[in-house]
Amino acid sequence: MESTDEAISVAEKLLTVLDAPHHLLNQDVHTGGSIGLAFYPDDTQDSESILRYADMAMYQAKEAGRGAYACYSAQLDHHAHETMQLHVRLKEAINRGKLKLLFQPQVSVGSDEIVGAEALLRWHDEVLGDVPPMRFIPVAETTGLILPLSDWVLETACRQIAAWEQAGTPLRVAVNFSAQQFRQRNFPDKVRDALKRAGASAHLLEIEITETVAMSQPMQAREQLNALVALGCSVALDDFGTGYSSLAYLKALPVSILKIDRDFIKDLPHGTNDVKITKSIIALAHSLELTLVAEGVETDEQLDFLRANGCETYQGWLFAKALEASDLSSRLCGVEA
Ligand code: C2E
Ligand code: MG
Ligand code: MG
Repeated sequence: MESTDEAISVAEKLLTVLDAPHHLLNQDVHTGGSIGLAFYPDDTQDSESILRYADMAMYQAKEAGRGAYACYSAQLDHHAHETMQLHVRLKEAINRGKLKLLFQPQVSVGSDEIVGAEALLRWHDEVLGDVPPMRFIPVAETTGLILPLSDWVLETACRQIAAWEQAGTPLRVAVNFSAQQFRQRNFPDKVRDALKRAGASAHLLEIEITETVAMSQPMQAREQLNALVALGCSVALDDFGTGYSSLAYLKALPVSILKIDRDFIKDLPHGTNDVKITKSIIALAHSLELTLVAEGVETDEQLDFLRANGCETYQGWLFAKALEASDLSSRLCGVEA
């Protein structure tokens, strides 16, 4: 290559070619790539380092999402070091059972009654302090830790569902599923087994996937989701409005719940564009007979807007942050914790 720009334009061309779907056995199969770039002699002059740097850059590209490229930089070295540290500590935390699953109530807009909860991971590390899921989930995804981590989340959520059922306060619990988990062929079997082991009813488990996960492999997504619905689970589309699901595609998925992303809620009722988008999401959900959950409701004004516009359920700090299971139990029994 004569220049950095030339290498980048080759990377872009490769990604475009890789991104085109292939039609195989009557199915559209999507492929993609992630490209890391390192340059001789600017980045380093030895061949081993240049491969390592390109590899680091590739992981950086993966973290940015599918189908991206990234160039090595010294900053990246720092970032890679951080990621590695996070990886090591996260692995230890998983093995030692140091992670927690908390539950954020989902509440009826009309009556303030708790109608469900979303299970959310929490990790407090002795060295790093509180590490938010937005930081460690992407690392878990690129290092393979996401599968053991997700198994633990599923197991723990199912046991909690069973505990609330047995206590006479059954509650629907939503669990976030990652793309990799979803890509496992035996994924519906895993869910069925976890429910069975815990003695939990399938209708109390809600599978939350993001639009992006659902869209990344549309045919497989539909098959997997159908199998989960056949078990009795319900399916929610998380962060709705941030992706680009087409209406036709949405109709083809067995989704029964749409979660409106916090990004649209946060400036209500003032942001003119957000008002428009939220109203159209509500109208869309009603026309498809889907239940709506608004995420990240922090103020009475936001709640008033949702009530006036017919959104039936919300979750957010206005009602409660994610709670320890025992604290939520007290609230379910009508006892303040
Ligand atoms: P998400 O599924 O969209 O979860 C909602 C996020 O909004 C949570 O952040 C929650 O704490 C936050 N939130 C709720 N109410 C409010 C509010 O009123 N104001 C504000 N500012 N934020 C609010 P959290 O717990 O940090 O989780 C972030 C993301 O990490 C989740 O987004 C989800 O994508 C992922 N995640 C969390 N737990 C798991 C898990 O067990 N498995 C997987 N695969 N992903 C998880
Ligand atoms: Mg979620
Ligand atoms: Mg969300």
